[in-house]
Amino acid sequence: MSSLYEQALTRLDLAARYSNAHEETVERLRRPKQTLEVSIPVRMDDGSTRVFTGFRCRHDDTRGPAKGGIRFHPAVTRDEVQTLAFWMTFKCAVAGLPFGGGKGGVIINPREHSLAELERVSRGFIRAIARNIGPDTDVPAPDVYTNARVMAWMMDEYSQIVGKRSPAVITGKPVALGGSLGRDDATARGGYEQLRELQRINNWNPSNISIAIQGFGNAGQHFARLAHADGYKVVAVSDSRGAVYDSSGLDIPTIIELKQSRGRVDAGSQSEITNESLLELDVDVLVPAALEGVITEKNADNIKARVVIELANGPTSPEADDNLHDKGVLVVPDILANSGGVTVSYFEWTQNKQGFSWTLETVHERLGEIMRREFNAVYQLRQEKNISMRTAAYAHALNRLAEAHESTGTSNDFAR
Ligand code: GLU
Repeated sequence: MSSLYEQALTRLDLAARYSNAHEETVERLRRPKQTLEVSIPVRMDDGSTRVFTGFRCRHDDTRGPAKGGIRFHPAVTRDEVQTLAFWMTFKCAVAGLPFGGGKGGVIINPREHSLAELERVSRGFIRAIARNIGPDTDVPAPDVYTNARVMAWMMDEYSQIVGKRSPAVITGKPVALGGSLGRDDATARGGYEQLRELQRINNWNPSNISIAIQGFGNAGQHFARLAHADGYKVVAVSDSRGAVYDSSGLDIPTIIELKQSRGRVDAGSQSEITNESLLELDVDVLVPAALEGVITEKNADNIKARVVIELANGPTSPEADDNLHDKGVLVVPDILANSGGVTVSYFEWTQNKQGFSWTLETVHERLGEIMRREFNAVYQLRQEKNISMRTAAYAHALNRLAEAHESTGTSNDFAR
């Protein structure tokens, strides 16, 4: 099987056919600008030392400092981090943010460590990559299994290294330390704004629309809450341990409470199903909100949802893409669907640079504006060219990347 990065490149090549980008731009975007691999020796609580491996990749920074999260996960690899960084380049461009793409990861299972150990890993990772990040070069953020507290440790460590308080080096911080209001649910809210656009376009009545959500971390949980509050029928949710289903709609506030108190979604009385069968439910909207590679050529045939909103990064493989497109499933691709997170990260960064904080209302208003504008731009391109939302999103992003790359000239300008 091809690597995740090679799979990502197939999307670039396809999109290039529908964009104005010069081939030199496409060539430059094929390879990440740099990938740093570091080892992080950490003192464990029992006095022993364990050495962790971490990565930070800067894929492209032509449109602005690289931007992208840091994940803590046992399955992190260089290939995965580079691919996630590649996706960030396109995500920031699709949302029109003045950022390039970056990503980081540490190979670790956070569940196996105490908070004190996680703090030492977080600080150790920042010490190892400190020269490669900064408010104007590469700005990390949370990702899978990292959160505001981890960002606080990382910001503090970086500030100590450079000898001055540097909140703009990282986003997704606690509000008390320079985080932005509204960053916590921004990924979900951005995707939800796009669901609302589909509601408007298709004239949906939310109470007739069923939704299944795979993943109940930050993105999945908030998406479920927002949809449920507006009367959508959220019929299934899952986390890594299990899934719950009720065809008449789940009581989401109770499930969120259970998840927070007992750490899992399937502790209630609803009927339990598997994570795999959740993906294949006969629902109107499927929201993958966990990890990459859950919709593949193996199960794409069985997907019955009419709409897929990718809150996770990379949940659908390129082979599955073709299958879903041929079946007429509308897939709102990750780089667009989950771009609300990095959009509010951008708001946080600008607030830090200005030393001025915005109200929650301003954050929601500006996030909504960007999400609606870019969703509709992509939707229109899809209609015009008769292509998938994914190809349209990549082409839209590539046009913006091309503008930046090509403003200093291409072979067209230099040829004699
Ligand atoms: N990790 C998130 C993502 O994949 C957020 C990145 C950011 O805010 O920089 O989009």
